[in-house]
Amino acid sequence: MNMLLVLLTITLLLIKADETVVDVEDGVVHEEIEEHNDFGPDWPVPTPESFAETQKMIDEAHKGDRAAFPRIVQPVSIVNFIKADGTGRKPYAAFVRQIEQLNAAFSAEEAREAGYEKATDSNIRFKLAGVRYVVNDEFFDLCQLPSVMGVYRPRYMMDPARHLNVYVCWCESNLGMAWLPYMSWFRQSTTESHYAQGAIVHHDLLPGNNFKGGLWKKGNILTHEIGHTFGLRHPYEGDCLSDESNSDQIADTPRQSGNPLSTCKAVKNRDSCKNLPGKDDIANYMVATEDSCRSHFTPGQVDYMQTVTQTYKPTLMKQQLPSCVAAVDSSDYSPDLQPCIGNVFQHNGRAWCKTDPIDPSVWAWACCPQSMDFDTETCRQGTPDFTKPAALIASPPVPTKAPVAPKPKKPKKSLRDLTTEDVQ
Ligand SMILES: [Zn+2]
Repeated sequence: MNMLLVLLTITLLLIKADETVVDVEDGVVHEEIEEHNDFGPDWPVPTPESFAETQKMIDEAHKGDRAAFPRIVQPVSIVNFIKADGTGRKPYAAFVRQIEQLNAAFSAEEAREAGYEKATDSNIRFKLAGVRYVVNDEFFDLCQLPSVMGVYRPRYMMDPARHLNVYVCWCESNLGMAWLPYMSWFRQSTTESHYAQGAIVHHDLLPGNNFKGGLWKKGNILTHEIGHTFGLRHPYEGDCLSDESNSDQIADTPRQSGNPLSTCKAVKNRDSCKNLPGKDDIANYMVATEDSCRSHFTPGQVDYMQTVTQTYKPTLMKQQLPSCVAAVDSSDYSPDLQPCIGNVFQHNGRAWCKTDPIDPSVWAWACCPQSMDFDTETCRQGTPDFTKPAALIASPPVPTKAPVAPKPKKPKKSLRDLTTEDVQ
């Protein structure tokens, strides 16, 4: 199979039910990607000309001005397909952790922690828009087939122009897959609203999983797939050929041969294209080495994602974080005000603040004792409901009656106790 088709499928191959396509040996998973096509003959094949045309558009659109890229918020809609016997159902908490991992990756927090000196914040942030559980054996088993996608996606997706739709299912022999936003879909052009946009991830690859002994336990397979949804390809496209037209088109990702689905130890100091400069970037999210050694996108990849977003995702570009106000008190309060994170808002004799580290405008209000030493779990005002207007979420509840003073003979409650018990 030629490399273009490998690129097209954007897939990471693992084990097929009745056919072994990889071997695990000394911690190294050997991938036989070139002999395998999971998607059948009906998948569209891009031409070299179509890639060249896309690249030209990206080059023309690319301003290289990273500082000018606003911080944008990508709401993530999850559809978790489940079999009738319950197989595949994942707890809501796993999706919350997945969103945290995406933000750690795209903000370069993980890169900074790993000591990657070129750590670059993409200014792309994610928030969980919702999780929908759908019991359907066929969708669970065959979610990666284009014909099946054409049934379930229009039914369950949220507007792809505004949301990133992630489908969690068995995914057959893949770890995950995603569509490049600038690629056509069966000779149809793909707008930002097309159901082809989005990502699939194997249900066993959310954070905390123990698949393959926990090789991808942090949830960076979905980081990789979402990199595709922002236009990134693999550093191993085109193998060790010096012809750049068949590569990932990014200057600071050294070419490499094949995708090592391997432990960090197995690929340390890997230099698979000795004829070309640079060792393999095994810590790059766009390969699929062990999660514990993957930590970054390169600055070139960040530039590329931002350019693709500006070019192909105009609606998402408008989903910028609003500016916040430095301080408010009860006389200033209105539902439209957006207090900044950490600022205390006095309301009905109670202190409130925003605690969400990503978006200062909406979501979880939490009560904030003056010490700021509060228990988020017991203080939080329930799960945010993004189907309601932001103002409704942001408004703290008004107590229905005045707080009752403690009786003199009882021990005095601490501020923390009072706060947590009294919150409705
Ligand atoms: Zn991929």
